[in-house]
Amino acid sequence: MLQAPIPPNDAARLQELRSYGVLDSPEEQAFDDIGALVRDIAGTPIGIISLVDENRQWFKTCIGLDAKETPRNISFCGHTILQRTPLIINDALDDPRFCDNPLVIQEPHIRFYAGFPLISSNGLALGSLCAVDQQPRQLQGSQIEALERLARLAVRQMELKRQGRLLAQAAHPASTEAEAPAPPPARLHQLLTSKDQLISMVELMLSQSSQACFGLMRLEFKELRRIANALGESSASALRQEQLERLVALLPDNASCCELNEQEWLVLTPFTATEEQLCSQAAAITEQLQQPIGVAQQLLSSQVAVGAALVQGNYSSAGDLLSDAAIALRNAARRPGSHYSCIDLASRIQAQQDLQLESELRAGLSQGQLEPHFQPLFDLKTRAVVGVEALARWRRSDGELLMPSLFLEAAERAELLGELDLQMIRQAIGASHVMARVQPHQPMLLSLNLSGALLESPALLQNLFALIDGEPLPQHWQLQLEMLEVNLQQPEAEIARTLQQLHQRGVLLAIDDFGTGYSSLSRLNRFPFHSLKVDMSFVKLLDAPEQPSNRILEVIQAMAEALDLHTTAEGVETEAQRQWLQRQGFHWGQGYLLAKPMPLQDILNLLLTHLAEAVPL
Ligand code: C2E
Ligand code: CA
Ligand code: CA
Repeated sequence: MLQAPIPPNDAARLQELRSYGVLDSPEEQAFDDIGALVRDIAGTPIGIISLVDENRQWFKTCIGLDAKETPRNISFCGHTILQRTPLIINDALDDPRFCDNPLVIQEPHIRFYAGFPLISSNGLALGSLCAVDQQPRQLQGSQIEALERLARLAVRQMELKRQGRLLAQAAHPASTEAEAPAPPPARLHQLLTSKDQLISMVELMLSQSSQACFGLMRLEFKELRRIANALGESSASALRQEQLERLVALLPDNASCCELNEQEWLVLTPFTATEEQLCSQAAAITEQLQQPIGVAQQLLSSQVAVGAALVQGNYSSAGDLLSDAAIALRNAARRPGSHYSCIDLASRIQAQQDLQLESELRAGLSQGQLEPHFQPLFDLKTRAVVGVEALARWRRSDGELLMPSLFLEAAERAELLGELDLQMIRQAIGASHVMARVQPHQPMLLSLNLSGALLESPALLQNLFALIDGEPLPQHWQLQLEMLEVNLQQPEAEIARTLQQLHQRGVLLAIDDFGTGYSSLSRLNRFPFHSLKVDMSFVKLLDAPEQPSNRILEVIQAMAEALDLHTTAEGVETEAQRQWLQRQGFHWGQGYLLAKPMPLQDILNLLLTHLAEAVPL
């Protein structure tokens, strides 16, 4: 018998092996899953992850055989670690190196052995992943390739353990091996894996000829950023940690999960066979994770959305599966009530249409198909036109004119909204010079909408400032930028700086759709806002007498007066509304009573007519 030789670099190899902290560690599901996959792929009764220690080979996992270790000198794996390629022995009895090996002639009577070296990131062989049978057999090329991939996966799993150890040591440098810091909660540790690893696992499961059923869920922790901004990173991370612990408590032992990015997690649940099962897992997750959590003497709850997809032989790539789960997640995140969703045909088709619209919009934007229409703002008392609001329209190549409700969401998804705003501002400033020729001495306001995307992007903000500095408005014209309260949720110091920079450039700042958001007034009052545009939903109800909305409008006007804010009422459609608003002290109006939004040529005509009439009421 040829004894397993000791390679010249064995000391370095052993040092590397020990740095993983895997030798003599307890059983772990992730490794056992890999051992089981070895059997599935090779079709052998035994699947092993063997680590070659100084005098023994130690089994991190040994599926199908009741053994923990054997002496190194008789081990097959002791030979495998000498090479980079697999060591495959189709029949040990035919091989002079092994025919009289005790593992062959006695229990467990090995006849077939296929060992795939486990090579660490710096090139040292730690052990081998092996398939063992008591019958002679042969492997196909595709099986060998799959097992090679699996061996790399096993090393990555070890790598993950090592990283965890190093992180823990870095966090507590003084601690010694004997009093190592408390590991992350055991169960989280057991189910946690890396993104690469989880995706490799999915790929491997999909590549099996008899594909197993399993579920994949994408979880989004929706408000962590907002909580981090409001209460600090440590509160957000405490909340997240507690949510993760609740998550793993709900998952079966054979599940795996990984972090995809700061707000998203992936969960793989093997043996999930029906959509009903998957939905009930998703429902339980959202239910539990949204229960309030005590953090820093406060009760916090953060919404969680789950998008799920079920594999039943219907996927061939991990990419398709992940993107289906992402579509489902987007549907879930959009829903106000229930927070999970499973992928279905209708949402897959909708997602394709969304993508199509996004790509057409991207092309349309670069070809200048987006243009501003203008709606006059008027003095509620005199009906004189005091300004215009520019509203985006998309004139498609077939001549169809699309309203913002049909493309703004697509612009936001495709991250084009900030660019769209800038284009509107640029074009509207150009148009203001044409409008100014009609009434060169009349003070006028050019009002535009500013998206959250623009407000949150330092690069786009720089472009906005450059645009304002480089393209002045006509004399007597002033630029106003309207923004929604929901888009002012960044940390106060940041948003204050941005608004101050705009204010210093002489830009008037307005809150759009006022009354529908939930900002605290004291917060708004700390920013240099000039006016409130009161949402049309209140104005619409004015015609019905004794509506509580009348009372709300009275309060808004009184409050705006107290804070020295200018007021514009949106959606003024009737003369009765105009009169009520004017009596109440609102300054300006905007609505179909005077005019709908219209193209530049039409607003020029309207301005000319108004100039000719100029009859105050
Ligand atoms: P908004 O800023 O509140 O604009 C007012 C909307 O109300 C416009 O709809 C306008 O046509 C409509 N409207 C005005 N008066 C009346 C009225 O008397 N009755 C009724 N029923 N509606 C009236 P539009 O043009 O469809 O725009 C919808 C929203 O799209 C805007 O609401 C604004 O939030 C957004 N939007 C439009 N253009 C842009 C843009 O360039 N950038 C960004 N970020 N958002 C834009
Ligand atoms: Ca607006
Ligand atoms: Ca509005």
